Amino acid sequence: MLYLYNTLSKSKEIFNSLHPGKVGMYSCGPTVYGYVHIGNIRAYLLSDTIRRYLEYIGYEVRLIKNITDVGHLTADDVAQGDSGEDKMLAAALKEKKTPEEIAKFYETYFKNVEKQLNIIPAQYFPRATAHVPQMIKIIEGLIEKGFAYEKNGNVFFDVTKFEDYGELSGNTLENLKVGARLEEHPDKNNPWDFALWLKAPSEHILKWDSPWSIGYPGWHIECSAMSTEYLGNTIDIHTGGEDNIFPHHEAEIAQTECFTGQKYVKYWVHGRHLLMNGEKMSKSKGNLYKLEDIIEKGFSAMDLRLLFLSSHHRSQMDFSWEALAQAHKNLQRINDFVFNLEVISKTEKDGDSFDIVSYREKFEAAMDDDLNTPLSLAVLYEMITNINKQIAEDKLSATDAKNALAFWKKINSVFGFVLQGQAEIPQEIKDLVRQRELAREGKDFKKSDELRALIEKHGFIVEDSKDGPIVKPAS
Ligand code: AMP
Ligand code: ZN
Repeated sequence: MLYLYNTLSKSKEIFNSLHPGKVGMYSCGPTVYGYVHIGNIRAYLLSDTIRRYLEYIGYEVRLIKNITDVGHLTADDVAQGDSGEDKMLAAALKEKKTPEEIAKFYETYFKNVEKQLNIIPAQYFPRATAHVPQMIKIIEGLIEKGFAYEKNGNVFFDVTKFEDYGELSGNTLENLKVGARLEEHPDKNNPWDFALWLKAPSEHILKWDSPWSIGYPGWHIECSAMSTEYLGNTIDIHTGGEDNIFPHHEAEIAQTECFTGQKYVKYWVHGRHLLMNGEKMSKSKGNLYKLEDIIEKGFSAMDLRLLFLSSHHRSQMDFSWEALAQAHKNLQRINDFVFNLEVISKTEKDGDSFDIVSYREKFEAAMDDDLNTPLSLAVLYEMITNINKQIAEDKLSATDAKNALAFWKKINSVFGFVLQGQAEIPQEIKDLVRQRELAREGKDFKKSDELRALIEKHGFIVEDSKDGPIVKPAS
């Protein structure tokens, strides 16, 4: 049974979907005014892991990930997220492009990064700019019901009207009044209210007609509009990084629940931040690495995937090259393991029987416990160690290798690794390695040496480790 930590209840809850066998999931996607960085990737990998594991246990998942192509109006350290510069606009001016060109460029970049990380694409990536009519409809409804008010072409949500405000983040009205830095706006009734619609200054490029002014939507309303449009009024799971908890998700709950009169999200799942020297990696601070920076240093997107899966999503993670190097080694070990299984599975070898069931149970127990990926990887490593022992003692049978390979494929539907090593080794080389293994088994060392030479002639080297043969392209 899957347990998920719900930010709303601050506890691990049993996961039950709203509709049998189906899960509706919404993940806050990128703001496309700059390159996606590896901190963002950590957040997208979390939603990918949730989705992959839900599919593993038999759910059909519909994932929606928005593209924020309207500027976030947010000075990062200010409370409600409706002041500061428009970052889309700033990027457009700086790069001498239109906001549409900027958005399209960075959206393509983001999708390419997700592809390299083997993140399964969302079923749909709605763009905020294509959903302004839906946002306007919600804002109109909120005004009608008395939850929002308009002044001078600006519309604000009246936080005092929503009793549960603060339940997600702990920033209740009482706490806000004493603690937070709040944004003053001459048209706000109270500083803790947040913007739903803002009148555009004349230099603003992205603006739309509305019943209140020519303007643009506040940041939070886009996710309410797009999630309800594609997933209905109540959704199973909503994810994001921890910075999304407040103000973004708190505001989403307030405006959506006041508009629909229904519960908005059943499970809120947030990933903690990726840090750089103790500080949040962020676009606005510029203390970031992009995927290219990782690749330039000789690592792969899969090394990064493994690094992120090696820590739990509810722990902050300080990025380090040493940890990435360790992830690289671990991935190589997985690579070699799978290759060996492939080789042995094609032989006629008998041997002792190897118990896969206990590993399956441990893997699922780890994942069921709030998606404990570090533990589920530890289960895999334990299995590798034990299978390698069997191989070294020449005891692993072809049937066991086949079963282990089938199990690997199943759990890798959750880990999502693309093993480059395998892909690089052509089938004919794998066949030669297999023939060489057979020759060695039959103690025909002359033939085994000839086959090694032939493999080398094809540009590959084969090493006999205690874990079985390891084949690599000769470098
Ligand atoms: P943004 O493009 O800034 O709106 O962020 C897109 C997603 O990445 C959101 O879910 C953020 O919460 C998440 N995110 C941003 N920075 C980090 C970070 N340093 N570590 C983890 N997640 C992050
Ligand atoms: Zn969002």
